[in-house]
Amino acid sequence: MSLTVRFLGTSASRPTVERNVTSLAVVREGETLLFDCGEGTQRQMMRFGTSFALADIFFTHMHADHMLGVIGLLRTLALQGRTEVMHLWAPPASEPLLRQAIALGTDREKFPVEITEFVPDTPIQRKGYSILPFTVDHKQKAAVGFALIEDTRLGRFNPDLARKLGIPEGPAWGNLHRGLPVILDDGRAVEAADLVGPSRAGRRIVFSGDTRPCAATIAAAEGADLLMHEATFADEEGPRAIETGHSTAREAADVAAKAGVRKLALTHLSARYSLNASELLDEAREIFDNCVVARDGMEIDVPFPEE
Ligand SMILES: [Zn+2]
Ligand SMILES: [Zn+2]
Repeated sequence: MSLTVRFLGTSASRPTVERNVTSLAVVREGETLLFDCGEGTQRQMMRFGTSFALADIFFTHMHADHMLGVIGLLRTLALQGRTEVMHLWAPPASEPLLRQAIALGTDREKFPVEITEFVPDTPIQRKGYSILPFTVDHKQKAAVGFALIEDTRLGRFNPDLARKLGIPEGPAWGNLHRGLPVILDDGRAVEAADLVGPSRAGRRIVFSGDTRPCAATIAAAEGADLLMHEATFADEEGPRAIETGHSTAREAADVAAKAGVRKLALTHLSARYSLNASELLDEAREIFDNCVVARDGMEIDVPFPEE
């Protein structure tokens, strides 16, 4: 079961030559989900081979650098003859703005666009995972981050033991794996617990959106496999981070450490920093070592912990 993230834009507020504004593609077992869609995202998708056959775009908030790109992307999809519905998931009270934006410069939509205002802190159940929008601390009231939380997996089935016990391969194995007891032809009863280990947690990845460091992110990211946290500024701009509702790299690292995540990626960097952003990385690593500075096009694979 594959799970990868691809950074399509890693710059805060405005694009630079090297970094576009925010967008993140998550590809899970062939399904593509987009999180935020800053201006120029469609071209980043082409550059980095992100599928246009996606059906869901999730928005952290309605600041222009996170949503303007949806206008051009939907237009291109229409030109390509798309007929399938596109779902836009947005914070409370953002439907009118989004509806207006996507109608700009066109007479009618060529394919259905459904806009759903999600309820923060209420999971959106999907097949095999859920998306949890959690309220963060930004200048915009309705700003959220997102956690993608996979469903708990079945425990490990022990085929060798099953053969040894004379349980015929087939439906009986499947039933046992799903936790059901099985009666064999000779009358013996076999309990699932004899052959199946404890259920295992799925993976969890978290995207902070724009935010000050906050308890909600720490809670959502507890034990996460990957935290993608905004790190707009270095220490020297600490007061500016407070003023603008953003985080420093060190603050992002502190969130990662408190949440006990496996890996941290810093994104949403101010245009003042170089592509390496070594000062951001150095400051973050003083607090949390397994940390990278995201770049446009960077892909991070998220394996199961035991892999
Ligand atoms: Zn932003
Ligand atoms: Zn913002």
